[in-house]
Amino acid sequence: MNIVIFGAPGTGKGTQSALLIEKYKMHHLSTGDMLRAAIAAGTPLGNEAKRLIDQGMLVPDDVILRMVEDVVRTSDGSNGFVFDGFPRTLPQASALDAMLEERGVPINKVIVLAVDEKELHQRILHRARLSGRSDDNEETIRKRLDVYYQQTHPLVEYYKQQGKLSIVDGMHEIGEVFHQISEVIDSIKK
Ligand code: AMP
Repeated sequence: MNIVIFGAPGTGKGTQSALLIEKYKMHHLSTGDMLRAAIAAGTPLGNEAKRLIDQGMLVPDDVILRMVEDVVRTSDGSNGFVFDGFPRTLPQASALDAMLEERGVPINKVIVLAVDEKELHQRILHRARLSGRSDDNEETIRKRLDVYYQQTHPLVEYYKQQGKLSIVDGMHEIGEVFHQISEVIDSIKK
C-alpha cells in the first residue's frame, strides 16, 4: 500500500505521517527531511537546497526525483510508502506514477489534510518557535503558501481524476485527524 499525505505547509503532514508509519509499519519518505539531512551534512546538494528552502521556493524537480528514485528503487517495498511533502509539482506526480507502475505498486490513496489558511499561519509560526526551522518565519510563510497554491495545489485535481482523493478535516486535534486517516486506510485494506 502506498499513500500520499498531502496538504499546504503546516497542515500536519509530518505529524500524521509519523503516526501512520508507527501504526501500519510503512516506510516514511519525507523529501523535506531528506533535504534537511543533506543540509546538516553540508553536501553540495544540501547547500544549494538551503538557499531555495530559506526563500520559501521549491527545490528543482530533477534533484528531488533523483533523491526519491534512489530510495524507491532500493527499498524492498514491503508495507509500502507514506509519501510526505512529495510530490509537490505535476512533473513530480507523473514521475512518481511511472516509478511505482514499474514496480507494480501504484498509489492507493492521496489523503488531503484540509486546514484554513489563517490557522496555517498560526501553526507555522508556532512551529517556528518550537523547532527553529530556518524556513518557518513570517517572511517565508507567505511565499511558501503562494508556491503551494500555484504549484502544488493543482495536484488535487490530478489525483481527483485518478479517483484517489480522500479529504480529511485537518482542523481537529491530532488524534481525531489520525482517527479519520486510519479509517481511510483501513477501508483500502478491506
Ligand atoms: P517540508 O518539510 O516538506 O515542508 O519541506 C521544506 C522545504 O523543502 C520546502 O519548502 C521546499 O523548499 C523543499 N521541498 C521539500 N519537498 C520538496 C519537493 N517534493 N519538491 C520541491 N521542494 C521540496
